[in-house]
Amino acid sequence: MDIKVFHFNPIMVNTYVLSDETGEAVIVDPGNCRSYEDEQIREYVASKNLAVKYVINTHPHIDHIIGNPWCVAEYRPQVLMHEDSMPIYDKASVYAIAFGFEAVDMPAPDRFLKDGDMVGFGNQSLSILYTPGHCDGSICLYSDENRFVITGDLIFEMSVGRCDLPTGNEEVLQRSIRDKILTLADEVTVLPGHGDSTTVGRERRMNPYLAYK
Ligand SMILES: [Zn+2]
Repeated sequence: MDIKVFHFNPIMVNTYVLSDETGEAVIVDPGNCRSYEDEQIREYVASKNLAVKYVINTHPHIDHIIGNPWCVAEYRPQVLMHEDSMPIYDKASVYAIAFGFEAVDMPAPDRFLKDGDMVGFGNQSLSILYTPGHCDGSICLYSDENRFVITGDLIFEMSVGRCDLPTGNEEVLQRSIRDKILTLADEVTVLPGHGDSTTVGRERRMNPYLAYK
């Protein structure tokens, strides 16, 4: 699988484009909100001749969803997220303005994902892990075959997601990390929603914010 990461919008979200030799692709957390960012996705997708099958949002915070309308207009993918995202997703325009973005009309999700679901594209499959705590509706995407997990704002290199926004809960977040991330093998690469990639083993040993190791 090819994994391309873009750093988009003033909050510097990691937008991942996953694809494989079939040409099918998934965009995770499209954070593009400026025309030159749209252009970077367009160029990458065109250069590899990709067909974007899905947009998946790890959670409904505005920096992770602001590019949904553009992606849907451009590629007509299905939009997938966890159902518990909806109360926040439905208020996207309110959050957009509060965080300095322009108000946007979000496309309705085509399908809801829940813990244990598999999302297939090309020859790949991603397992959905439900991992609340940063906010309701937060999911991680795990590829057993390719040994990576996309964690959204659950866990970062040497840090964890904030819990002070609506529906955030520190205890729930720590349990999600313990039960869904620290149960993965040490060599699994962690691809977070912001900042650099890391591994499960490195975070298990060194992350100072983990309540359980
Ligand atoms: Zn977030």
